[in-house]
Amino acid sequence: MVDAVPGRLTLITGPSGVGKGTLVAQLLAKHPEIWLSISATTRSPRAGEVDGQHYFFLSRETFEQQVTAGGFLEWAEFAGNLYGTPRKPVEDSLALGRPVLLEIELEGARQVRQSFPAGFQVFLKPPSFEELERRIRGRGTDSEEAISKRLGRARIELEAEGEFDAALVNGDLATALVELERLMGL
Ligand code: ADP
Ligand code: 5GP
Repeated sequence: MVDAVPGRLTLITGPSGVGKGTLVAQLLAKHPEIWLSISATTRSPRAGEVDGQHYFFLSRETFEQQVTAGGFLEWAEFAGNLYGTPRKPVEDSLALGRPVLLEIELEGARQVRQSFPAGFQVFLKPPSFEELERRIRGRGTDSEEAISKRLGRARIELEAEGEFDAALVNGDLATALVELERLMGL
């Protein structure tokens, strides 16, 4: 099995519910040398989410203090909550030569494009908008209000596909994983 390129930054984006988290979990299980950035968020934890493992769950006040202190590589507001990538662990991992993976939304991806133009950015898209809605609803973790915010944002995000180095359809999960590995040269 081929390993990920040391010190390379790869970013996966795409609308909420498309399957980014699911695909990334499978990629990491096969390629444990890849270091996944753990984001900070002001969103409340979903059932089963662990602080420091899925996210660092912060109050809005603490999050904003860290923004002011320059602690985030990028940050954005998404569906009423703030999300950001802690800067230092990413820089440390790259300096150590580890392959780094970010899984973030569109605005943040654009900021990373500015700060890491050599990074490789993949846009994950659903087979159809109807299937995206099915997945968000099927996940069963979001309120009706959160679902409609996420679907509204998804319509905007889907138009940005052309900005990315590669676009990948997450229809069949196993096929998407093989394709992602191919794109990453794994
Ligand atoms: P995201 O991280 O992009 O918000 P998730 O990984 O949470 O999305 O996936 C949203 C829902 O879609 C989950 O219930 C997940 O099990 C399901 N899902 C993910 N990938 C696929 C796929 N290829 N086919 C069908 N369902 C999928
Ligand atoms: P969720 O609430 O479903 O976990 O995440 C909502 C959206 O925020 C997803 O599209 C996810 O990729 C994105 N996201 C997660 N972490 C970050 C981050 O650190 N920065 C940015 N910009 N987006 C993030």
